[in-house]
Amino acid sequence: MTHPLRNLPTPPLYSRSLDFEALYREYPPAPEYFDTVYRLPTERIRELQEARFLETMRRGWEVPFYQLHWRKAGLEPGDIRGLDDLHKIPSYDVNDLRESLERNPPWGDYWGLDVADGASMPLVLQTSGGTTGFPRPMIYSPRDREVMSIMGGRRLLMQGVRPGDLVQVTLSMGMTNAGMVAREYIWKYTGAIAIPTGSGASTSTRRQIELAQHYKTNVMIGIASYLRHMGLVARDEMNIDPRSLGVRLVLCGLGPDSRDSLEELWGATVLQQYGSNESGMVASECMDRHGLHIHEDGYVIEIVDPETSRAVPLGDKGNIYTTCLYKYAAPVIRFNTNDVSAFCTDACTCGGTHKRLQAIFGRADNMVRLRGINVFPEAIGTLVGQDARCSGEYFCTVDNDSASGAEEMLVQVEAANSNVDRAALTADLERRFKETLSVRVEVQVVDGGALDALTGLSVTSKIKRLADRRKRQ
Ligand SMILES: [Zn+2]
Repeated sequence: MTHPLRNLPTPPLYSRSLDFEALYREYPPAPEYFDTVYRLPTERIRELQEARFLETMRRGWEVPFYQLHWRKAGLEPGDIRGLDDLHKIPSYDVNDLRESLERNPPWGDYWGLDVADGASMPLVLQTSGGTTGFPRPMIYSPRDREVMSIMGGRRLLMQGVRPGDLVQVTLSMGMTNAGMVAREYIWKYTGAIAIPTGSGASTSTRRQIELAQHYKTNVMIGIASYLRHMGLVARDEMNIDPRSLGVRLVLCGLGPDSRDSLEELWGATVLQQYGSNESGMVASECMDRHGLHIHEDGYVIEIVDPETSRAVPLGDKGNIYTTCLYKYAAPVIRFNTNDVSAFCTDACTCGGTHKRLQAIFGRADNMVRLRGINVFPEAIGTLVGQDARCSGEYFCTVDNDSASGAEEMLVQVEAANSNVDRAALTADLERRFKETLSVRVEVQVVDGGALDALTGLSVTSKIKRLADRRKRQ
């Protein structure tokens, strides 16, 4: 009998699965990108998008999820003739993906590939964070993964990361995509070296700080609230001024969290970006900090009123709908992210011609309608971040359980230290919230760390800020 070693299958090699030079002509890495595609006139960008969009639609019709979803809305192949028809395509959100997973466990039907295809094409699997329910699996082809990495590399060079830098990645490393893809794009497309510490769950916050000090980390990547937490642990518990660490850049999904207090804490420039597990890195701020530049050669981003499925007037707020132009394994076509943003209406001083997002204002599904006023918990976070007497941590609870049945929001806020005058802080915050949000909320000041169990701060990359306990009448 032949020994099994004599009869090994031939795995598909990653290095042979892509024509890298051809891919770089399609999606130029930095620095070429910034001399070419980044400055194309708007109509040329549109032409580029049209061709890639039609190819994406063709691929979408090969995926059971889209066949089902689109036919239910009366669409047939060929109905969508170009980007002008985009609004006719029914959107979907995470709830549709959850239904897909229930309909067809364990992978759902939103992939255009099967696990067995790994025998002929190297595939990589990552998942969503799984904060609400079981994580959503996502599969990536070599092309998907490489374009995501090219875009990650563009973003870092755009934001000031340089070859030879040490970049500490404090995002979750493991099932979720965020930390893993960061390690990949730093490694492949920046010349910098990743220090993949992962989140506080895999490397304790104190050890993260010791490593940054010992290795001389130049750049921190993470989520804003965790990086703020890390800075405060260094300063208040370890007696290490984060400014002394020499970190030059702090890169995070900022949301409306206060940039100023984070810059003050770290003595570093803070720049933000936007992306998701489904789509990769969609947009990022340049050093001029004048909105988030969308990588429009890879994405069509719409700002939409979900009620009408139509784009809102330029500059108005609406939900971000994402269409990826490069994805093969699991196409993303009109994904309602439920993140709220608005397009910039002016040009950026850096000369980039692609559309820009003003900011990420919050989650549409986190938005609370409190006595007739729309409130984003994230906007509360901005105000909390601006007050030095707060640690920056907060948690909102909405309830209508009072005797009168009226809707009330309680905002719990952690004190920065034990010397804070809690009565004065409570009164000041209640007044600031009323002025800014136009609705009264109740404030309770608690000890530092007291909200960890509610927010999940020290163990997860997806921080919770809201519990809605209202009983629906
Ligand atoms: Zn710019």
